[in-house]
Order: sequence, then structure tokens, then C-alpha cells
Amino acid sequence: MSEAVASRPLRLSQRSRNVSPSASLSVEARIGEMRAAGEPVISFGVGEPDFPTPEAIKEAGRQAINTNLTKYTPAGGTVVLRKAIGRQLEADTGLSYKPSQITVTNGAKESLYLAFQALCDAGDEVLVPAPYWVSYLEQIKLAEATPIIIPTDAASDFKVTAAQLALYTTPRSRIFILNSPSNPTGMVYTEAELQSIAEWARSNDVIIVTDEIYDRITFTESYARWLRVAPDLADRTIVINGLSKTFAMTGWRIGYAAGPEGAVRAMAKIQGHSTSHPSSISQHAALTAYTTDLSEEITRMVGAFQGRRDWIVAALNEIEGVSCLVPDGAFYVFPDFRGVLGRELAGGVVCQSTAQLAEYLLDQAKVGIIHGEAFGLPGYARLSYALSLDKIQEGVGRIKAALTA
Ligand code: PLP
Repeated sequence: MSEAVASRPLRLSQRSRNVSPSASLSVEARIGEMRAAGEPVISFGVGEPDFPTPEAIKEAGRQAINTNLTKYTPAGGTVVLRKAIGRQLEADTGLSYKPSQITVTNGAKESLYLAFQALCDAGDEVLVPAPYWVSYLEQIKLAEATPIIIPTDAASDFKVTAAQLALYTTPRSRIFILNSPSNPTGMVYTEAELQSIAEWARSNDVIIVTDEIYDRITFTESYARWLRVAPDLADRTIVINGLSKTFAMTGWRIGYAAGPEGAVRAMAKIQGHSTSHPSSISQHAALTAYTTDLSEEITRMVGAFQGRRDWIVAALNEIEGVSCLVPDGAFYVFPDFRGVLGRELAGGVVCQSTAQLAEYLLDQAKVGIIHGEAFGLPGYARLSYALSLDKIQEGVGRIKAALTA
């Protein structure tokens, strides 16, 4: 190689250049640096339960190591785990799923990635209600498909309606992403809302990707599950779920996709050439999560989230210029900060956007929030309440002080 060639920067693929980094990971990285420099930052950015993984699951992980379950498993996961997931799916949906209809992946994130890779061709359109979880857009782009953003607002609790879907449907529409409970809004769809979406889906050639990763973290009886409402659409539905949130297992990286055999086989084929399968140790621990009664632990965690939600919603609504809906699931609030934009704040600063506001709060109040721009809805921001009530109270107190002139 000539010296001139060696000194040139490496050319990166167009694909990689098209991908935006995750806003929440960038904020977390900056917070990490500030903390390392001794700054007492409170982060509302985290998207994971602050509770430890239940002891029985951790013990199963230790056992897996001790008994040498440390080798390759079938691509797509062990059959025992897929059977256990099938039983969970049956309990949730009333429908039966064979192991060949399930693939176990490195978190739900990989399941989503594989779904877009296996189901989309260049130019296919994926209907994504905004505000949306950040990775959907980038994963859709990586599959060379086109995200079609459907805006929603607080008046509809940030939920998309069948009428809106009809408006955005074209012959290229391929997938609709349903995420309930939602990240970032925490909103959940009711049976009536899903009924009318199902009617739209029945008359259009679309696949429903239902991301149910927060399904156990709900605070309302009115949470409805897609396949309970539209079991006749099971052949056009990919269920995405996993253990990260329900069992506080974000680092174990276990998720799954379930759906029609042909689609799942196509996903598993791509998986077989990329990651093969998640860690055998994590799979063994996941089996315990699905075969042990951990309802007490989950109920305790969800109860704590609900108490924190009640506190943070009330406290945010007391800040002048801030208004916050009551979410019915997940562990996020998505308040409207438009009332504080364009106004002089405590540091003598005027913020024109929530992106600027998030920077200001990090610098001035040492509080991390994720600006709504990252989720496709400027003027709002996401705060996770997966941190102790003490920290939530301290953090919201700091926000209030920083926003008061
Ligand atoms: N879907 C949504 C809506 C999420 O919020 C997340 C994680 O934050 C995921 C999927 C992926 O979760 P994991 O890959 O940890 O299973």
C-alpha cells in the first residue's frame, strides 16, 4: 500500500453514514463523563429498571456456568426455551405457537432488526406513529425501507387512529409498528382503539409488528393486547417481546419474535449468519424466568413504578409552563415543555427548542432528560422514572428551580 493511500481516512459505507446515533445513549455517555469528573448528575435518561434481576434468575445463570451450558445452542435459541415462550404466548394471546414460529434473539432490539431485514425490500414503507422509539427509524433505514412518520399529539394521548393510518396507507405500505405500552409516551391502546385499527389492517395488505416489551408494566385494566383483539390477524402479525424490562434483565440480552413460520424462518436465517443466538447462559436464565412464578417480584416492581409515576406527573404539572399526561404503562413520562421555550430561565438563558432545553438542564441543573426531537416530537421530552423516588424528587426539584426565572 502506498503511503498516500495508507494516510487516507477509511471510507465508510453509505449505510453506516445514514444511521444516526441513539440520542439516549449519547446523553448517557455525556452524563457518564460528567459523573467521572465528579459532577452529581441525576439522569432521567435511563431506559432500564433500577431493580436487580430476581435472585432465581441470577442463580439459574450461575448454574448454567457451573454445569457447562456454555456452548453453542441452535440458532434462534434452545427448543426448551422456545417452548416455554410458546406457553407464555398462549397464556397471553390464547393462540398456540410452535418452536418453529419463535426465534430468540439478543434482546427485542435484534428481533425488530431481523423483522425489517426479513420483511422489507428497498422502497417498502413502514408506518411509524410519532413519537416513536428511536431505533425503529434507524433499523428501517438499514433495511433500505422508508419510514413513514404518522404524527400524533396529546389530544389523542399520542395514539394513532385507524383514520390516520388510512390516510398514510399506500400500495408500498408493508409494516405498521404498534408499540403499546409506548416508549417514549407510556400510553397504552384500549380494546376499542385496537378494534378499529384491526378493521383497517383487515382491508390492507400490511404486517403488524407489535412491540410488547413493556406489556407487564401497566397501571390500568384497559390495556389491550393486539392478538387478543385481532386473533384472526395472527398470520400477519409479528410479536416482539423480551425479558429486559419485565425481569430487569437488560444486560442479559434476551428477546424474541413470534409469528408465521415463513417469516420467522426468514428472520432466523439472517440471524444464523449474523449473531446465531444469544448467550447460552442467558438463555438458561431466561428459561427460569418463564418457568418460575415471579409474579410477586414483578408486582412489587410495577407497584413502585406506579407510585413514582403518580409523584412525578403531579410534580411536573406544578411547574409553570410544563404539562404532563398520566401514562398508563412503561416507566416514562413525556411532558410538554413548550410553555418554557422562548422564556427567560433561571440562568438568564432562553431556550428555543427542547434540544437546547435538555442541554441547558444538563449544564445548569445537572439533570439529564431526552429531548422530544429524538422521538419525532419537538417541544416535549422524555423522562424515565426508573430511578429511586429520592432521586426523582431531587431531580424534579432541580428542574423546577432551573425553569423558574
Ligand atoms: N422496544 C422498545 C419500545 C424499547 O423501549 C426497547 C428498549 O428500550 C426495546 C424494544 C429493546 O429492548 P431489548 O433489546 O433490551 O430487549
